[in-house]
Amino acid sequence: MINSMKYFFFTVCLVFTLIRCQKFNVTDPDRGVSLVLNNQRKSVLTDISYSLQLEIPASKNEAIKGEVIIQFNLSSAREPLTIDFNTDSSHVLALRSGAEVIPYTFVNEHIVIPSEFLKEGSNELAIKFVAGDLSLNRNDNYLYTLFVPDRASTCFPLFDQPNLKATYKVTLVTPSGWEAVSNGTLKEKKSESEKSIYTFDETKPISSYLFAFAAGKFLKMTRQVNDRSMTMYYRETDSVKVKNNVDEVFALHGKSIAWLEEYTNIDYPFGKFDFVLIPSFQYGGMEHPGSIFYNESSLFLDEKVSVNRRMGRASLIAHETAHMWFGDLVTMDWFNDVWMKEVFANFMAAKIVQPSFPEIDHNLRFLLSHYPSAYDVDRSEGANSILQPLGNLKNAGTLYGSIIYQKAPIVMRHLERKIGEELMRESLREYLKTYSYANAKWDDLISIIDTKLEDDIEAWSNVWVKTPGMPEYEWNEQDFIRQRLDTVSNRIWQQPLKIQRTEQNDTALVIISGDPIHLKRLFEVNFLNADGFSYGYFNMDESSKVTFLSYPLAYSDPVFRASMWINCWESMVRADGPTPEAFIRYSLNALETEDNPLLIDFLLGNLQTIWWTFLPDHNRTLMQSELEQVLWKLVEISEDAGKKNSYFRSYRNMAGSEKGLALLESIWSDKVIIKDLTVSEEDKIALAYELAVKMPQHQEEILARQLENTKNPDRKERMLFVMPALSDNREIRDAFFESLKLEKNREHEPWVLEALSYLHHPLRAESSISYLRPSLDLLKEVQLTGDIFFPQRWLHTTFDGHTSQQALEIVDAFLKEHPEYPPYLKNKILQATDLINRSVALQKLKPEQI
Ligand SMILES: [Zn+2]
Repeated sequence: MINSMKYFFFTVCLVFTLIRCQKFNVTDPDRGVSLVLNNQRKSVLTDISYSLQLEIPASKNEAIKGEVIIQFNLSSAREPLTIDFNTDSSHVLALRSGAEVIPYTFVNEHIVIPSEFLKEGSNELAIKFVAGDLSLNRNDNYLYTLFVPDRASTCFPLFDQPNLKATYKVTLVTPSGWEAVSNGTLKEKKSESEKSIYTFDETKPISSYLFAFAAGKFLKMTRQVNDRSMTMYYRETDSVKVKNNVDEVFALHGKSIAWLEEYTNIDYPFGKFDFVLIPSFQYGGMEHPGSIFYNESSLFLDEKVSVNRRMGRASLIAHETAHMWFGDLVTMDWFNDVWMKEVFANFMAAKIVQPSFPEIDHNLRFLLSHYPSAYDVDRSEGANSILQPLGNLKNAGTLYGSIIYQKAPIVMRHLERKIGEELMRESLREYLKTYSYANAKWDDLISIIDTKLEDDIEAWSNVWVKTPGMPEYEWNEQDFIRQRLDTVSNRIWQQPLKIQRTEQNDTALVIISGDPIHLKRLFEVNFLNADGFSYGYFNMDESSKVTFLSYPLAYSDPVFRASMWINCWESMVRADGPTPEAFIRYSLNALETEDNPLLIDFLLGNLQTIWWTFLPDHNRTLMQSELEQVLWKLVEISEDAGKKNSYFRSYRNMAGSEKGLALLESIWSDKVIIKDLTVSEEDKIALAYELAVKMPQHQEEILARQLENTKNPDRKERMLFVMPALSDNREIRDAFFESLKLEKNREHEPWVLEALSYLHHPLRAESSISYLRPSLDLLKEVQLTGDIFFPQRWLHTTFDGHTSQQALEIVDAFLKEHPEYPPYLKNKILQATDLINRSVALQKLKPEQI
C-alpha cells in the first residue's frame, strides 16, 4: 500500500514540478524558516488548528506514520502556501483537501501548495506522512519530543514559527502497556489488540516549539496540590529515591503556581498541569504548557545533597513553571527575542525561590555567576547586543551565549531597580493580559512601561538591550568620576554607582545619566561599584587598588570583596595594572585568609587563567615553586572537603615542578593518601591526563594503567577517545585532529572538547598552533552539525592554550580572507581570542617584569 502510494505521488509530484516550472513564478523558500517566510505567512494566516494522529510502533527502528489535518484561514490566496516539513519528499505520502488530491512541490524541506488550490477564508488540508525521527528521541520503550526552536517540522508538516499559534488535537496510537502524555488533557484511552489509543483534548493556542508529547513505559503518580490535580510521569525504578523526592517535587510546583498566579494576577492559563521526568534529557527542563519535561536526575536528588543542589532544583521547577506565563502564554514574536522568556523565567524563579534559602548569599552568587562571564564577551571586539538580528530560525542556536544568559539578567535587575518593584509588576501584568495567547516583542513591554514613567525608558533600553559592549568609568583630571567617552555613538549607560570612601566610612550613590560631573574624589581611597550592582569597567586609582589588594579581608562584606576583585581583574587584563605577576601574588596572599567558598573558587579560576594565559614561560618558571607551596599548604590545612577539593584541582592544573609532579604521581598511584581528600575515578583520570602531558617519558605506562583501573565502561570509552590527543607522538596527535574533520567523530561533543583541551595544552602550544587554521576552517560546519553551544566551546578550547602573536596572526589572516564570513560566527571568534589579544599586548608592554 505504501509503496504503491508512494509511486503514485512520486509521479504526481514530478508532473506538477514540471507544470510548476512553466506556470508559477515564485521564489523557492530557503531551507529553515526565514524571516521573509515568517512575515509572509504571518500576514495571511490566522485561526490555525492541527489534528494530528501518530501510530507509534514498539520498535524504535520502525517508521512512525501519521496524518495531520491542518485548518486555517487565509486572508489572501494569491500566493502559494509554504508548509514546513524538514525531511525529504519521500516522507509525504498523500495530500488532500476533502476528497481532492492536491498537487504540491517539495522544495528545501517545505511543501509548497500552488495558490489555485487555496481559497480566501477557511481551508483544510490533510497530509499523510512518515514522521522524521530527528527530534523524537526514540529509545527502547519510550520516546519524547523536543521541538525547540523549529524542530516540530522535522516530525510532521506544519507552520513552524512561534507567532503562528495554533490549537492541537492529538491522537497517539501506542503499543499496549505504554503511557502517553501531551499538552492537552487526556480525553479517552481505548485499548485494541496490542494497542492503546490515547485521544487528547484540543489545546489552547500555543507556539509550535511548545507542542510536545511523550509515550512509553513510564510510571506515574497523581496528586492533588492546592485543589489542582497533577500527574508526574517518570522512569526511575528506585522506589526509595522516588519516595524521598516526590513530596517536595509536587510541593515545589504547587508553590510556584500559587506565587505566579498572585504575581501576574492571571490564573494558570493551560488547564491541566503534568510533568514528565526523562533520563538524560538534553536540558534541565523544557516548558511545554501542561506537560513540562525535565531531566529526571535534576528533580530526583540523592539523599544528603548540598543546599546548592536543593536550591538548583527549586529554581529549575520555578523557572519552568514561570514559563507557563512568560514564554507560553505570551510568546516572543520571533526567536531574536528568545532571551526575554529566559530572563523572565529566571527573574521570577529567583523571586520565588530565594526566600526559602536564607543560608545562601544570593547577591554574591548573582554577582559572581553573571558579571565576569558577561564582561568576558562585552569587553571583546566581538561583543554582541542582547537583542540580535536573526535571519532564519535554523540559526537560532547562534543567539545563545553569555550575553543572553549572564548579561540579560543583570539588565533586568537594573530595570526593576530603575522603575521599582511595584511598577515592574504592574507593567508585567498589563503585558501578560494584553498579549495573552499571542505574541509580543521586547518593545511592546517597553512601551507599556513608558506610558507609566516620566523617564525615557526607551533611550535606556536602546543602549542596554540593543547595543553591545560595556561602559567604562574613571576619574578625570579634575577628580570627577566620569564615563569614558563612548567610541560607538556617545551612548550614556544610565545606572546608579555606589562609591565607598572608606577612610571616612562614607558611601555615596551617584546616578550616572549624563555629563561627567558627579562626585568629587575627596579621599585617598575610593572604591567604585561598592555594592557590585553597576555594570561596566571601573578603573580605580592605583592607591585604591593597592589598598584593597593588600588586605582584602579587611572588608567584611563578601559582595564588596567580589566586586573589588572583579574591578582589579578587569584592570589587569586591560593593562591598567596590577601586572599579572602582581595579581598572582595578591591572589595567593588572599587565598590564605579568604573563607568564602564562592570567592575561593572565583580566585582560583582567575589564578589558572593568568597562569596559563598571561604569564610568559620564563615568569611561570620563576613563580612555580612559590605557587605550589601556597596551594599545597591550603590543600593540607583546609578542613572543609569542598574547599580542599577546589585547592587540589587548582594544584593539579598548575603544578609543574619535579617535586609537584612527583607528589601528584604518588596521589594518583595511591602511594600517598591525603586525609579527607576524595579522589574519585574521574579525578584519577584527570590526574593521569595531567601527568601524561607533563611527564611525557612516563606517559604510556600511566595511561595504560589508568585505562586498566577505570571500571566505569562509559568513562573507559571516553578515555579511549581522548588518549590519542594526549600522545607524545606528534603523528598520533595529527591523526587525531584530522579525524575530527569527519562529523561522526565529533558526535560526543564533551569528549571532543576534553580531547581538544589536551591537544592544545599550553605546554604544547608550539606544535598545536598548526591546528588553529584548520579549526577555523571547520567552524561553519561545526555550527551546522553541532549543538547550540558547541561552536563557541570548540573555539574556546582550541584557543585557550595559545598566547602567541603567531596565533593572533592566524586569526587575522583567516578573517581577512573571509570578508563575508557570517557576523555571528566572526563575533564568536573574536570573543574566544580576546584574552590572547590582551595577553600579547601586555607582554609587549612589560616583557620580563616580575
Ligand atoms: Zn527557560
